Amino acid sequence: MRIVLVGPPGAGKGTQATRLAEQLRVPHISTGDLFRANISRQTELGKLAKSYMDAGNLVPDEVTIAMAKDRMEQPDAEGGFLLDGFPRNVSQAEALDELLTTEGMKLDAVLDLEAPEEEVVKRIAGRRICRNDSAHVFHETYKQPAKAGVCDVCGGELYQRDDDSEDTVRKRLEVYHTQTEPIIDYYKAQGLVVTISALGPVDEVTKRALEALKREDDGR
Ligand code: ADP
Repeated sequence: MRIVLVGPPGAGKGTQATRLAEQLRVPHISTGDLFRANISRQTELGKLAKSYMDAGNLVPDEVTIAMAKDRMEQPDAEGGFLLDGFPRNVSQAEALDELLTTEGMKLDAVLDLEAPEEEVVKRIAGRRICRNDSAHVFHETYKQPAKAGVCDVCGGELYQRDDDSEDTVRKRLEVYHTQTEPIIDYYKAQGLVVTISALGPVDEVTKRALEALKREDDGR
């Protein structure tokens, strides 16, 4: 399957993407994670991306699209993929369509994770992530690690993402509403959008997502 995941920052895209990718046996492709990997390796791309990310803005399309394309062209993505954080505006969605058309492929579904603004702000403000693996996510009040500052899964150091500060979060939400939300209408016109609530326990949201994707698949 080829799936795009959309939703505001803090909706749980990364958490759900990891689980869904495992269940659906496709690679999880996160442009945010790819940028963060470049930042920790201190590449030129990482340096460029960091300045935009810390301000809560989108990294320019040209570099983002090239990076996403390169990842989608890896052999493990031949049979499908789950995109998390890409596309993030209409021109990226158009570029993705163009790429897929060239390869004779198409998307199967766009999964829209819905969460109210107060909830995503709370989730992001307390979010702590493991330096070793961004899939190891904790929360200061909702999901505390056994030992403060240490990842329960692998013992890695927990940290707060630079772009999870309150000011940057507000900017990211504004960017989401103005630039990313329009891709939902873009994909609705193609009949691809499946919307689910991102509220409730993580397992329940995963179950909801898998059921919604299955219904979509059966309906074809
Ligand atoms: P979240 O979904 O919680 O906002 P991500 O890890 O997906 O977090 O993205 C973090 C930041 O990385 C974004 O605010 C943006 O600066 C940059 N980024 C990620 N994906 C894209 C993209 N497709 N286009 C432009 N910038 C991106």
